[in-house]
Amino acid sequence: MGSSARQPTSSTASSPVAPPVSLAFLGATETVTGSKYLLTVGERRVLVDCGQFQGEKALRLRNWAAFPVVPATITDVLLTHAHLDHCGYLPALVKAGFAGRIHCTPHTLELATIVLRDAGHLQERDAEDAAAGGWSKHSPPRPLYDTQDVEATLPLLSAVDFDTDLALGDGIVARWTRAGHILGSASIRVQTPGGSVLFSGDVGRVDHPVLRAREVPPGADYVVVESTYGDREHPQPRNLPHERLADAIRRTEQRGGSVLIPAFAVDRTEVVLQALGEMMRHERIPRLPVYVNSPMATAALDVYRAAATELRADVDPRSAFDVGDLREVRTADESRALTQGRHGPAIIISSSGMATGGRVLHHLERMLPDPRNAVVLTGYQAVGTRGRQLAEGATRLKIHGQYVGVRAEVVMDDEFSVHADASDLVSWVGDLRPRPRLVFCTHGERSSAEALAARLEKELRVDAVAPRLDEVVTIDAGRLDTALPTVLPAPATAPNLTVAIDGRTYAAAHLEADLRRVAGAGDDLVLTGTITLRLTPRG
Ligand SMILES: [Zn+2]
Repeated sequence: MGSSARQPTSSTASSPVAPPVSLAFLGATETVTGSKYLLTVGERRVLVDCGQFQGEKALRLRNWAAFPVVPATITDVLLTHAHLDHCGYLPALVKAGFAGRIHCTPHTLELATIVLRDAGHLQERDAEDAAAGGWSKHSPPRPLYDTQDVEATLPLLSAVDFDTDLALGDGIVARWTRAGHILGSASIRVQTPGGSVLFSGDVGRVDHPVLRAREVPPGADYVVVESTYGDREHPQPRNLPHERLADAIRRTEQRGGSVLIPAFAVDRTEVVLQALGEMMRHERIPRLPVYVNSPMATAALDVYRAAATELRADVDPRSAFDVGDLREVRTADESRALTQGRHGPAIIISSSGMATGGRVLHHLERMLPDPRNAVVLTGYQAVGTRGRQLAEGATRLKIHGQYVGVRAEVVMDDEFSVHADASDLVSWVGDLRPRPRLVFCTHGERSSAEALAARLEKELRVDAVAPRLDEVVTIDAGRLDTALPTVLPAPATAPNLTVAIDGRTYAAAHLEADLRRVAGAGDDLVLTGTITLRLTPRG
C-alpha cells in the first residue's frame, strides 16, 4: 500500500473505541544487532528500524528465517540511522514483499543508499567467494539479498526533516530529533492512539568530535532506549586523547610495520581521520600515508564533507579530515595492489569495524602473521565477531575458511565510541519531559540492558525493564500505573561544579587547564596521573 492510499484519520484518537496498540521486540534484545521494533495499531503495522543481525551464528541465522509477520502488511518503516544493524535488513524485507514507505532524515537517506548498495555487493561477493572456497553451509551458496533487491529498496526511501511531525494516518505521528551518533541519526517519537513511544536509536555522546550535539527529544509514555554501554563508563583520556593509538603508530613505524584500523565505514572512519590529522599537526605521530580502503567509507566521507550545517561549529569540513597524504582506495584492483604489494610503514583504515566482512579481512589475512604490524580496534566489538576475538587475545583467527596466526600487536582504543556510556544514558532518559512511565532497555547484551534498567529505577525512579527477543507488550498509556512518584530526583550532573584544592578554586570542567595555568607551565605541563574526585553530601 502506498502512502497516497491512506487517509489520515485524526478523529480516531478521540473515537470512543481506540484500536489496540502493541509493540513487538523483533531484534536488538539481548544483543546489539538486528534492531527491529514492530508497532501494531489496529490493522496498521509500522516497523521502527530494520537492522541486520550480525555476530553469533545463532543470531545471523535469524536473518534467514521467515519474518514474523507478512512483510506486505507493513505500511511504513521508520529509520533512526544508516548503520547496517539498523537498516541492513531492508532489502530482505522488500524481497519478501514489503512495498511501503521507508521514512528517514535526508542524510540517513544518502548514507543508507551507500550502506545498502555496499551490503548488496558484499552479500553477492561473499556468496561467490564461499562457492569458490567451498566453505559455505549453503549449497550452492546464496546471498541474503542481491544488488537488484537493493535497487528495488532505494526508491522506497523518503526524506523527512528533523523536528517535523510526519502524519502517517490512523492517529500515528512520527517526529525525528538529532541523536548525535552518526550523520543524520535520530531518536524517533511515535504518537499512537494508545500512547506515545520514543525510540532512542543509538544515542551519541554529549560531545561528538565532528557532529552537532544531540538534542533532547520530546518525552513519551514509553521509551525504548539503547544500552550498548549500559553497564560501563567510557574511560576519560588520562593524558592526551587517543594516546594508545598514537603510541601504537609510533612503535609500529619504528619496527617498520603498518597499522591497520578496522573501522565502521560511516562515521568511525571520519572520526579516526580527524584524530589522526590532529595528531600529525601536533607532531605526536609521524606523517605516514593514510589509506582509506573501503568504497563505502570514501563515499560516506564525501557526504560528511558536504554536510556543513550538521557539523560542529568548530569543525571546518574542508580541513577536518585532512591527514596530508590521504589515499582513497576505490577500485577492487587498487585494493588488491594494497593488500598484496609491499609498502613502507602506512596507516590503513578499512571496514567492517568488527571485521565481520569487507576488505578489512584481506588486510587481516596479510598483516596478522607479521609481528611488526599492529591492529588497532576502535569501538564496540560484538560477541562472536572477529574483532571481539582479537580484543580477547585470540592467537588464531578464522578468515575465508582458513586459520591465520595472530602475531601482530593488537591494541584497543576505547575513546572512539560514539555511543553514550551508562551515566550518559541515564541523563538522556532523565532529561525527557514529560518523564517516561515505562522504559525498555534494548540494544545491549543482556547484562548491559539489565544493569541500565536497574540504574534507571534506582536513580530516576522510573519503571524499567529489559525485554526479551520476540516479546510483545500492549501500549496503553491510560492503563499504566500512575502511582509513580512525580517528584524528580536532583539532576545527576552539576554543571557549575567547582573544586577547592589547597584553598584555590578550580572549575571542574577545566581542571587540567586551570592547574597548568596556576603552575605557569602552559602546555609544557603534561598531566601524567589521574585526578579522582569523590563528591559526598555535606554533613
Ligand atoms: Zn549505530
